[in-house]
Amino acid sequence: MPIPIPMPMPQNRSNPFEPFRDPAAAAALIAKIRGSWDGPPVRIMEVCGTHTMAIARHGLREPLQGVAKLISGPGCPVCVTPDGYIDAAIALAEAPGVTIATFGDMVRVPGTRASLERARAGGADVRIVYSPLDAVTLASADPAREVVFLGVGFETTAPTVAGSIITAQARGIANYSVLPSLRTIPGAMALLAADPDVKIDAFLCPANVSAIIGTDAYRPLVEVCGLPCVVAGFEPLDILSSVLMILRQISARTARVENEYSRVATPAGNRKAQALMADVFEPCDADWRGLGVLPGSGLGIASKYASFDAGRKFGVAVLSTPERPGCRCGEVLKGMIDPPECPLFGNACTPESPVGACMVSTEGACAAARRFGIGA
Ligand code: SF4
Repeated sequence: MPIPIPMPMPQNRSNPFEPFRDPAAAAALIAKIRGSWDGPPVRIMEVCGTHTMAIARHGLREPLQGVAKLISGPGCPVCVTPDGYIDAAIALAEAPGVTIATFGDMVRVPGTRASLERARAGGADVRIVYSPLDAVTLASADPAREVVFLGVGFETTAPTVAGSIITAQARGIANYSVLPSLRTIPGAMALLAADPDVKIDAFLCPANVSAIIGTDAYRPLVEVCGLPCVVAGFEPLDILSSVLMILRQISARTARVENEYSRVATPAGNRKAQALMADVFEPCDADWRGLGVLPGSGLGIASKYASFDAGRKFGVAVLSTPERPGCRCGEVLKGMIDPPECPLFGNACTPESPVGACMVSTEGACAAARRFGIGA
């Protein structure tokens, strides 16, 4: 059962999140957490970049020290996208007549030889868009150019990418395509749960992904790995309440899926979004930075929409590439080290001059640690 969060009346009615950030309620939950467990610290992994940022922003790690260790996992889509994908995107950007449309974070991620930002400075046409439909609009406005959207994300982004392909097809926009780098979260969680080097006791499951796939999607994982999984909202009281739910499961020597985020996520999830994804995509193997190739953990474009697949259309392949020397993003993404343990953290690698993807994305663990002064 979700832990009832003490709800004060919001002082600022324009901010709907205020009740979930109440300091007195947070202190009460922290006291309950600390009073509920006297064993060794429980290792809880969050697999959502928004959780990573919320935990750092609200300083939730320190009050739980000695009881629960919150570990960031591979929950930032930009961070887990390997260098080979960036290289393929740059190759497309440098092709004559091609416009690359992408979310802002992607332009600064270094590939093996450059970033999209560098390619743009060299004359490539790289545009920042706020949704895949913006990229369809770009293609519609300039039929003489090929517009390629960089489809990077998890199950939250995949339905919007699918929608853009359906829209382009319906409008007869043939100069639009997607270079897909879409991943599904439960497969990565299963790999991490089975990895003896990672040592996870429980998962804090992502809020928005769970709203799409449904909380029942974690049941097979719990049956196989025997670890508690709690779907958590993004606010401090959501996260603290979920930690308490996890500790109570562990105290009771049980493991099941619980849903703290029941105000949005349901057991079945969003059926329309799932149907859209099932129509446009098909499962494929996906290469995750730090985790390697995970069978069936990616979403490729289905054959019936092949003309919208930039990889097929332009004959561009995403190649596997080794981690660059000195960069420990792979260990950060597996939760094996905390960002400040990377020797480059805050020295050679900063948000202004990033070496690895985890320092580029606003949802990256290294960027969050640097921004909020962790390990400074
Ligand atoms: S500090 Fe930089 S190089 Fe080191 S793990 Fe983080 S992003 Fe990668």
